[in-house]
Amino acid sequence: MNRLAIDGGDPIRTEPFPAWPVFGAEEERALIEVLRSGKWGALDGSKVKQFQERFAAFQDAKHGICVVNGTLALEVALRAAGVGPGDEVIVPSYTFIATATSVLAVGARPVFADVDPQTMQIDPASVEERVNSRTRAVIPVHLAGHPADLDALMALAGRYGFTVIEDAAQAHGAAWKGRRVGAIGHLGTFSFQSSKNITAGEGGIVVTNDDALAARAWSIHNVGRVPGGLWYQHESIGWNLRMTEFQAAVLLCQLDRAEEQLHRRQVNAAALSGLLAHIDGVEPLSVDSRVTSHAWHLYLFRYDPAAFGGMDKSTFIRCLQAEGIPAAPGYIPLHRNRAMRQALWEQFGVKEEDIPPCPSAERACDETVVWLPQSALMGTSQDLASIAQALEKIQAVASQRQQAK
Ligand SMILES: *Cc1c(COP(=O)(O)O)cnc(C)c1O
Repeated sequence: MNRLAIDGGDPIRTEPFPAWPVFGAEEERALIEVLRSGKWGALDGSKVKQFQERFAAFQDAKHGICVVNGTLALEVALRAAGVGPGDEVIVPSYTFIATATSVLAVGARPVFADVDPQTMQIDPASVEERVNSRTRAVIPVHLAGHPADLDALMALAGRYGFTVIEDAAQAHGAAWKGRRVGAIGHLGTFSFQSSKNITAGEGGIVVTNDDALAARAWSIHNVGRVPGGLWYQHESIGWNLRMTEFQAAVLLCQLDRAEEQLHRRQVNAAALSGLLAHIDGVEPLSVDSRVTSHAWHLYLFRYDPAAFGGMDKSTFIRCLQAEGIPAAPGYIPLHRNRAMRQALWEQFGVKEEDIPPCPSAERACDETVVWLPQSALMGTSQDLASIAQALEKIQAVASQRQQAK
């Protein structure tokens, strides 16, 4: 019998998956150019301006305002939309914690909605259950690069009058019904942190089609200044959240690589789904037919422990990792996060028993959903085949063991 790597057998692979980020002579040249120009800040040079225009166009948005990271991009969007103390903002429970901490940062209360178990995107029915007169905004997260159901959410926004802020930190290049995400809602935000599909190590951007929201976001990120105003003319309260020219120089080069990389991930994700279709008890998440471009920041699949000899999720993940596959367990739902529960109690008097459950998010975390990073989709067909081989090997050994019992 083939021994699992976790038990000291030979792993399916020892070679790493392709390294991330990808860079070359272009990035080197661009960085040296900024260095030698002496124009290192966004107010001195033109790289940030160029990048925010190009990136906004890349996402079918009219305006882009670069900021220091994706977390502060969310905070700027919330402030631009006028969200503050006394307001509630509905966010999915199954997301990175920054989606909710940005809400806390502006003094508003995050309210957690459940996700659709088919796509893991925020469930519009759960959003509607949580809407009340204090609901000021909803932040759909395009988890893994799969757009949330923007049709349903924009219809709810029209009915209840809340602002939709797309957290598109994982969705560079993603499109919903032929239109790239970010400015389909009232505002959208992206991250350029190291792991993201377009990166400069850190960075973020707010995008919108609304001139007034863009002007507010610009002012908030530039210490309350107004375009064309005097240096010490601060018309509103803002902060210095500007990106540097070094980041923008790298991002311009990364953007040149983005379409090809997006395409490669899409081709590889389809191929991987084809391979996994042959494995009993392994199922890629569904892709909504209205998604015309999936950005594949993550590849999520569901596994059925019963098809793997009853193996629990943490053992399953450790087995995959030992075989050389960079599998990860993913998020712990935020409505169960202790720090978040404490903040809700201390800041808003919300008791634990008054936080509604999110059963699909809980089940995804506890039992079924497994993540692969985008870099696993950047390699060759052999790289993809090794993922299927590792799953088949674990399945064969685990079911043999179960039969032996
Ligand atoms: C990465 C990420 C953020 C935060 O972006 P940073 O640039 O790391 O601050 C927010 N939301 C989601 C869904 C993310 O994946």
